[in-house]
Amino acid sequence: MTARPPLAVLGAGTMGHGIAQVAAMAGYDTRLFDAMPEALETARERIEANLRKGIQRGKVTPEERDRALDGLSYSRYLGEAADGVGIAIEAVPEKLDLKQKILARCGEAAADRALLATNTSSLSITALAEGLPARDRVIGMHFFNPVHIMALVEIVRGAETSDETVAKAREVAERLGKTPIVIADSPGFASSRLGLALGLEAIRMVEEGVASPEDIDTAMMLGYRHPMGPLKLGDLVGLDVRLDIARYLHEALGSPVFEPPTLLERMVAAGRLGRKSGQGFYRWSEDE
Ligand code: NAD
Repeated sequence: MTARPPLAVLGAGTMGHGIAQVAAMAGYDTRLFDAMPEALETARERIEANLRKGIQRGKVTPEERDRALDGLSYSRYLGEAADGVGIAIEAVPEKLDLKQKILARCGEAAADRALLATNTSSLSITALAEGLPARDRVIGMHFFNPVHIMALVEIVRGAETSDETVAKAREVAERLGKTPIVIADSPGFASSRLGLALGLEAIRMVEEGVASPEDIDTAMMLGYRHPMGPLKLGDLVGLDVRLDIARYLHEALGSPVFEPPTLLERMVAAGRLGRKSGQGFYRWSEDE
């Protein structure tokens, strides 16, 4: 059996535990780092539960589970997790200075030409790389939640990211069983920008009385084969989260497409945030 190449995942929350799981399943010697011991414990439990469910559904064999669990280690120390790795994927909270600090420390501990990837969903890769000695090796690898199920990875190229780094990120994404797309460092990347344009227009249509939320969602599901309509999706993501992204993209891109609709502003002000508050465009019960 060939040796497992070492890979570090920095941050063991919602995204980090999922990235670590798919990396271990793909045969990497996966080191998962988090500053909080309880986050590491929760990550371990979530990974084991995902694998258990995978076996029950016939998607994972017991051998694949054992191989994944054998390939995973957990650490509270960044230097230990990143020591000599050729690939690091950062998934700490969405704060520029924190991510820069983690990437800089990781760059010191990792192998000389290591890939330094960030799972940021909105920050500029160029800005994140600023001040780091290894700017050409910094790249976005934007995974989707839940990572073990969602097939897309947006590979985001910063102003100084090298071709070699893009090629390596693509190769890693494919080895993890994902389909990569490569995009320039631009606000909202590809998926958030397009998804939000649709979601905001759907809200404006409700506002204008064009159709009910249910009928607008049905139009996209049956007319365009979307698995879920844009209004229900907004409820699931959280309308407050959607509003924040709309404000950010409106400012960053300057396009009226992203101007937050009045109805969205009003719903958020009234605490109608979607599933998490029990009411958005739909009514949600606790077990949904
Ligand atoms: P999360 O809050 O679930 O996890 C973040 C983890 O980072 C936590 O376990 C926390 O203990 C750890 N952490 C905090 N400070 C740390 C530090 N100084 N050193 C080490 N670990 C630290 O967050 P998440 O939802 O997994 O998001 C992580 C990143 O992924 C963010 O950049 C987010 O924008 C992006 N993202 C999130 C989603 C999503 O659906 N949640 C999707 C795509 C991308």
